[in-house]
Amino acid sequence: MIFRTLTKESLPGFLDTVSGSYRLVVPEQKGRDTYAFRPYSGFHKVAMGFLRTVIPPKQFFFPPREGLFQFTTGAGIETATDEPPSSIIFGLHPCDLHGIDILDRVFSYGERDTFYWRRREKTGFIGLSCLPDKYCLCKSMHTDFIVDIYDLFLYTLDDVYMVSVRTALGDDLVRLRPDLFREPTAGEIAEYKDRIEEREAKFTRIMDITNLADLLTLEYKSDVWERFSQRCLFCGSCVMVCPTCQCFDVFDSTDPLTNTTVRWRRWDACMRKDYALVTGGHNFRGARPERFRFRYLHKEIGFAEMHGKPTCTGCGRCSETCPAGIDMVEVVRSIRE
Ligand code: SF4
Ligand code: SF4
Repeated sequence: MIFRTLTKESLPGFLDTVSGSYRLVVPEQKGRDTYAFRPYSGFHKVAMGFLRTVIPPKQFFFPPREGLFQFTTGAGIETATDEPPSSIIFGLHPCDLHGIDILDRVFSYGERDTFYWRRREKTGFIGLSCLPDKYCLCKSMHTDFIVDIYDLFLYTLDDVYMVSVRTALGDDLVRLRPDLFREPTAGEIAEYKDRIEEREAKFTRIMDITNLADLLTLEYKSDVWERFSQRCLFCGSCVMVCPTCQCFDVFDSTDPLTNTTVRWRRWDACMRKDYALVTGGHNFRGARPERFRFRYLHKEIGFAEMHGKPTCTGCGRCSETCPAGIDMVEVVRSIRE
C-alpha cells in the first residue's frame, strides 16, 4: 500500500480518464434523498456527498434477475457467453466494501459460483470516505474502516484526497494520469489523522453486539419475535436493500413457439411467506415470528459460525427503508433487555 494525494480540482479529469479505459460506475442522485449507482456520464452527475444508495453494489455481480442458461429441444444447453466489461465502481464506502467481501466468501463457499465471479473478477473498486448519519451502524459492526477489497481509496481532506493505492490495478489507475498524483505533505498527513478522530466522534448510533450470537440463541423463544412480527409487513424490502442478503429463487420459463426454456435466478427474501414453502404444501417458516426471527439468526449467527463475523455491515439501509419503522437496534436492544 502506498499513499498519494489528488487535488479536488483534479478528480473530474481523473474520472474522465478512467471512464475512457473502463466501464465506470458512480453514485448519482435519483430522488430528493435517494441515490443509485449509474454509468458515468460526466463529473457533474456524480453525487460526492451521498451516503448510501437504495440498491447496494451487489446488483453488479448478483443481478436481481438473470438467465443462468437455456435449453432447446434438439439443441442442448447453452450458457451465457457474453464477456462482462472491465469495470470500476467509484464511491464505495467502507460498509459496502465489507459487504462485497462477505458476498465473495458466500459465492466461494463450496462450489464457486461462476455467474457471480465472472463479473466480480472484472470489477475494481475506488472507495470514498464518508461521515455517518443517524442510520449508520458500521462502528458497532466494526466495518467503519477497510484495509482490503478496494483498489484505490479516497479520504476527503479540505483541498485534496488522501489516496490509498492498495493493488496493482489501483497502481494502473494512478498511472493513467500520473501528472495528477503526488506524495502527501506532512501537513496533509496531520490533517488526515485529525479527520479520522473527527469522524469517530460523529457516530451517534451504537448497537451493542457483545455476545449477540449467544443471546439470540438463548432467546430463541422470546416474545420479542412475536411482538415485532406483528408490526412487520413482510414486504421483504429490508432484504432487497441489504448488501449481503443473497437468497435467490430458481425457476424456468418456456417459450412454446421455440421450445426454448430459460433457467432464471432472481432475488428472493426469507421474510416472504412462500420462501420456505415446499412441494406438498409444508412451510418450514410459515408463522410470522419464525420468519422475522430467521433473518436475525441468519445475519448474526449462521455466517459468523463459518467465517467469524456476522453478515450485517451496519450500512443502515434496512432501518431507513422499512415502511413499518422497524429498526435493528431496537430489536437487538429488546432481546438484550
Ligand atoms: S422492511 Fe420492515 S416491514 Fe418490510 S419485511 Fe423488513 S422489517 Fe418487515
Ligand atoms: S442488515 Fe441492515 S444494516 Fe445490516 S447490512 Fe443489511 S441492510 Fe445494512
